[in-house]
Amino acid sequence: MNQRWPEWLSLNSNIRELKPYGAPQIPAQVRLNTNENPYPLDESLQNKIISEISQRVSNLNRYPDRDAIELRTTLAAYINGISNTDFSYEQIWAANGSNEILQSIVLAFAGDAMGFEPSYSMHPLITKSVGKKWISISRGPDFVFQLDLATEAIEQHRPGIVFLTTPNNPSGGSISLADVAEVAKATLAVGGILVVDEAYAEFSKESSSVTLIKDHPNLIVSRTMSKAFAFAGARLGYMISNPTLVEAMLLVRLPYHLSELTQAAALAALKNRTALQQQVEQIKQSRDLLVEELLKIGLHVVSSDANFVMFSGFKVSSQEFWQRLVDRDVLVRDVGIPGYLRVTIGTEAENKAFLTALLKALNL
Ligand SMILES: *Cc1c(COP(=O)(O)O)cnc(C)c1O
Repeated sequence: MNQRWPEWLSLNSNIRELKPYGAPQIPAQVRLNTNENPYPLDESLQNKIISEISQRVSNLNRYPDRDAIELRTTLAAYINGISNTDFSYEQIWAANGSNEILQSIVLAFAGDAMGFEPSYSMHPLITKSVGKKWISISRGPDFVFQLDLATEAIEQHRPGIVFLTTPNNPSGGSISLADVAEVAKATLAVGGILVVDEAYAEFSKESSSVTLIKDHPNLIVSRTMSKAFAFAGARLGYMISNPTLVEAMLLVRLPYHLSELTQAAALAALKNRTALQQQVEQIKQSRDLLVEELLKIGLHVVSSDANFVMFSGFKVSSQEFWQRLVDRDVLVRDVGIPGYLRVTIGTEAENKAFLTALLKALNL
C-alpha cells in the first residue's frame, strides 16, 4: 500500500515513510501465517476464565489495579517455576501484548536501536515510530546470529537499545546463553539496554535468558502469552528485568493500561496452565515431523526452535509460491526474504493439508 497523505496533514516526519504492520488477514481454510497456537483453549480453562471474569464484571465501574500486582506476582511464579529463578513482582512488568512492552522500552530508554536481521519487523517499526534511528546488522549464512559481528557493531554504533530475538522470528534458530551474556556485556559497556525478545521461548531447547538477569543489570527479557499460551486474542505480554528498569516502565505506561478483564483472563490462564504444557510438546513434535517431511520433499529448511519453520527450494518467487498455496486454501507468510516462506505449525490436520497443498504447488 502506497499511502498518499493529504497536503494539509502534518504527519510526524518520522512516521511518514512507515508501512503499517501487516500480516494479511485473508480468509483461508488453513491459516498458518501468524505463529499462533493452533489449539483452542480447553473447555475447562475456558470456563475458569469466564468465571474469573464474571466475578469482576460488577466492579467495572472502577479502574483496575494500575500496577497489576497480583498478575505480576503470578507471572513471576510461572517464570520461577520453569527457570528455577527467584523473581518477585518488582522484576516483572506486564502490558497488552509484548509489542506494548517493546514500545514502552523504546519510549523509556535513550539512544538508537540495533537489531540483527532478518528478525521481528516490529523492532524497527516501533523504533522509527518514536523518532529513533534503526541500525540493522545482518545475520550470517542461514540467518545464524554472529557474536563477533554483533559485538563489533555495538562498539562501533554505540546503540542505546539492542534487540536479540531468540528463537528468532522469522528464521527460527536460537542464540546460546553464552552469546546473550556477551552481548549484554558489550551493550552495557556502551551504556545500552539489551532486550531479549523471547516470544517463542517455550518451544525452544535453549534455556531462557532470565537466568542472566542477576549478573546483567541492563538485560530485559520480553515474553508473551500470545504464542505458547494460546492467548493471542487476550493480549498479554510481560518483561523480566532488574527492578530499576521496571520502575522506568511506570513512567511511560498509560494509566490503567491493562483492563480488569485482561488481568482476570490472564490470571485464570496462568493458574491453570498444565494443559498448555501438553500442547507445546505436541507442537514441538509436529514441528520436527513437518521438518522431516519438507526435507524428504527436497526443500531446504532453516533449523527452528520455535512453532514455525522457514523453508526455501521452490523454483518460483516467494510471492508466486505463496499465491499457489493461497489458491489451495493454505495461508503461510511471505516474510519478504526472496526465495523463502514461513509456515506456522498447525494441528495435525492442518499440517497435512499444508503438505498436500505444497506438493501440488511444487508440481505445477
Ligand atoms: C509474536 C511476536 C511478538 C509479540 O506479540 P504480542 O502478541 O504483542 O505479545 C513479539 N516478538 C516476536 C518476535 C513475535 O514473533
